[in-house]
Amino acid sequence: MSLEGVYDDGNIFAKIIRGEAPSVKVYEDGDVLAFMDVFPQARGHLLVISKTDKARNLLEADPAALAKVVAITQKLTRAVTAALKPDGVIVSQFNGAPAGQTVYHLHFHIIPRWEGTPLGRHAEGMADVEELTALAAQISAKLDA
Ligand code: 5GP
Repeated sequence: MSLEGVYDDGNIFAKIIRGEAPSVKVYEDGDVLAFMDVFPQARGHLLVISKTDKARNLLEADPAALAKVVAITQKLTRAVTAALKPDGVIVSQFNGAPAGQTVYHLHFHIIPRWEGTPLGRHAEGMADVEELTALAAQISAKLDA
C-alpha cells in the first residue's frame, strides 16, 4: 500500500489507539496520542497521531484534526528538547512507501539529534521498554513545566 489506497483499521497505530497493541504513551487527549517509537532512530524518538482521523497520510488529513496534531507536535517538540537537551531535532512525516512510509496512519516523527551521534536506521532495532518508559516520563514531565 502506498500513496493511494484505503485506510486499514488493522494497522498497528489503529490497534494502539484502540488499546489492542501496547505502547509507551507520552501524551493523550481526546483527539491526539503520542507514544515512543519502539524502533527509535535516536534516544527520545516519538510519534504523534490523530485518534479520530482515519487518514493514511497528509494528503488525506482532515485540516481540523491535522491542526490539533501539529499543535501537540509542537508542544511535544518543546518538551523533548527541554527534557533531553538535544543539539537539534527532526520533525518529519512520510507519505507513501517510496517516501519511507511503513505505517499507513498519518503520523509525525519527533527525533532528537546530538552533534556527533549518527541517526539510526529507520524502523530497525527494537528499544528496551523500561528505557522508553523512563524517557516518556522525562518528556511528559516537561509538558506541564
Ligand atoms: P513510517 O516509516 O511510517 O514513517 O514510521 C512508522 C514508525 O512506526 C517507524 O519509525 C517504526 O519504528 C514505528 N513503529 C512500527 N511499529 C511500531 C509499534 O508496534 N510500536 C511503536 N511504538 N512504533 C512502531
